[in-house]
Amino acid sequence: MTQRVDVVVVGGGQAGLAAGYHLRRQGQDFVVLDAQSTPGGAWQHTWDSLRLFSPAAYSSLPGRLMHPQEGETYPDAQHVVEYLADYEKRYELPVQHGVEVRSVHRDGPGLRVMTDCGEWQARAVVSATGSWSRPFLPALPGGDRFSGAQLHTAAYRRPQDFSGQRVVVVGGGNSGAQIAADLAYEAELTWVTQRPPRYLADDIDGRVLFDVATARRRALDEGRTDVGGVASLGDIVAVPPVRGARDAGLLRAAPMFVRLTQRGVEWADGTRAEADAIIWCTGFRPALSHLAPLGLRGTRGRIATDGTRAVAEPRLHLLGYGDWTGPASATLIGVGRPAREAAREIAALLSSGA
Ligand code: FAD
Repeated sequence: MTQRVDVVVVGGGQAGLAAGYHLRRQGQDFVVLDAQSTPGGAWQHTWDSLRLFSPAAYSSLPGRLMHPQEGETYPDAQHVVEYLADYEKRYELPVQHGVEVRSVHRDGPGLRVMTDCGEWQARAVVSATGSWSRPFLPALPGGDRFSGAQLHTAAYRRPQDFSGQRVVVVGGGNSGAQIAADLAYEAELTWVTQRPPRYLADDIDGRVLFDVATARRRALDEGRTDVGGVASLGDIVAVPPVRGARDAGLLRAAPMFVRLTQRGVEWADGTRAEADAIIWCTGFRPALSHLAPLGLRGTRGRIATDGTRAVAEPRLHLLGYGDWTGPASATLIGVGRPAREAAREIAALLSSGA
């Protein structure tokens, strides 16, 4: 049986909930379909010691401030899961958990959404599926020869799983630095980065990054000179555990190796390091496979957007994922604004009778 609704939101993480909040304010008839059986999106699957890079008040979705976590300036992932679960409940957002969207198709004036438990007919779709389900691992020579364990950030949980082991952590971003700091006390760590680690000043955290991103957007919107984005400030937020390990001299980074061997890794000059495990902190790609039937994928696997709206399919909006769907839209505090714009555009589209 096909169910009918004006708007289907695909994904019930923070981006999907922010969309729901604004669709509700616009008085829309909508449903949020989320593959997970419980609220919290990707935050349910991160490593135990992960800390947000902003204090709670700077990690809030529209309408509801995140309360500080007792004893912590930077909340942990469980705190975010609880906040999102409470948000969903408080605003009575119609989230159906445990429903995976398989594909979205054009169907006359609307869009047909095929799931693992039935079909939906919608007039507009918001895709907010994040990237956690699509870990990216670079292909290096010898990748299939290495006999130790290889895992991605997405599968890392806690340092005790690697007690006393020789572990190579690959990646000079926040995940790489945090996981390297986590393992530094428990494992024999080799931290490998493509370029020397670039720490932000110790007093810079997500608050400053958000302010810089906002100022840049304002400058560009007003036709002023580009004041530069957050990338110019550095790559790694020196959250307390990272700062602690760095200051203890435990975070010395080696350059990137060029191949894997059966027992470890090898650099261009022939130097080798043996390893029991390699942890790839090499990022994620947007989870967009359900949109394949729409034929919208462009360069670098992205879909061309104007704001959040897909340029070639005005009934589709994309939320979260990265700056290409709005400045800081893949962050808790940043997703509210693009979510509001998406909801407004959808309301205008639907009221125009399209
Ligand atoms: P997700 O949280 O991934 O939610 C997407 C939801 O959609 C999931 O529930 C998923 O199961 C569901 N889904 C996916 N595909 C389908 C489908 N086909 N059908 C139905 N449901 C589907 N941001 C901050 O603001 N502060 C931070 O400190 C911070 N730290 C981060 C640390 C790490 C290691 C990472 C990776 C990201 C961090 N971020 C941070 C960025 C961002 O806030 C998170 O990645 C966040 O989880 C993105 O939210 P989302 O709703 O876009 O995606």
